[in-house]
Amino acid sequence: MNIFEKKKEKEEKIKKSISKIKHLVAVGSGKGGVGKSTVAVNLAISLAKKGFKVGLADVDIYGPSIPTLFNIENQEIIGKEIDEKFYFEPIEKFGVKLISIGFFVEKPSALIWRGVMASNAITQLLSETLWGELDYLIFDMPPGTGDIQITIAKEFYLNAVLFVSTPQELAIADVRRAINMFQNKDVNVEILGLVENMAYFTPKELPNNKYYIFGKEGTKKLAKELNLELLEQIPITEDISLTNDSGNPISLDNDSLEAQHFMSLATKINNKLK
Ligand code: ADP
Repeated sequence: MNIFEKKKEKEEKIKKSISKIKHLVAVGSGKGGVGKSTVAVNLAISLAKKGFKVGLADVDIYGPSIPTLFNIENQEIIGKEIDEKFYFEPIEKFGVKLISIGFFVEKPSALIWRGVMASNAITQLLSETLWGELDYLIFDMPPGTGDIQITIAKEFYLNAVLFVSTPQELAIADVRRAINMFQNKDVNVEILGLVENMAYFTPKELPNNKYYIFGKEGTKKLAKELNLELLEQIPITEDISLTNDSGNPISLDNDSLEAQHFMSLATKINNKLK
């Protein structure tokens, strides 16, 4: 098979794998540690709670956290052979079909697994997963701008992206760069808006008290500057941290204030894309 035939075969494989998926939406960020995975996970669960068929692809090669956030770190991925070709079955939990690059890499090696090699591995993993029919496939992207982001945006026909930022100036500069990449005419993906995570601290016993520990206007200013919507402001709370660590994302607790924030985000995104 020559190089053109190989390329065509790869394209056909990708098209087939996503042919029954309505919306492919990425959750990106300028840098790591801002809560991108937290937002991706809780958005996916909130969309599933609304009755949508949802998948979540963790392609954050530098810190895949979906296995921890869903407490499925030791679960084995099952494969299936169809027409003599091998496919992965996503794991289903909390109503979401999951696949993570974290299932396939040893933690220390992820950091040195870069560039073309990482992009190829991600493309193979995503196009060999039996997603089936989905309303939403959410991508938990690596932070920043790089090969993987471009590969997913272009080769997987990404429909839209939203960005997570914290209010501090430093995070803002990074998210601005990442947004610029997606606005490039070669990539050209709809930018749904910004989510400000850790926007303020709110104690559980005093839910009306908001403490803007990282400053108040950061993300709002960026949204205005880039003419983007500030979709949601998520507080920093002990419960988000604890539920993340225990693998029971906060959105499962319907009565919590945090779940309401994520549900509101899911509603806004669905309204923008339907
Ligand atoms: P990223 O995907 O951007 O690297 P994560 O979602 O993994 O970020 O979050 C980084 C850390 O911050 C995790 O330990 C997570 O539990 C915690 N965290 C994220 N968002 C919140 C929040 N709103 N309140 C409390 N802890 C949070």
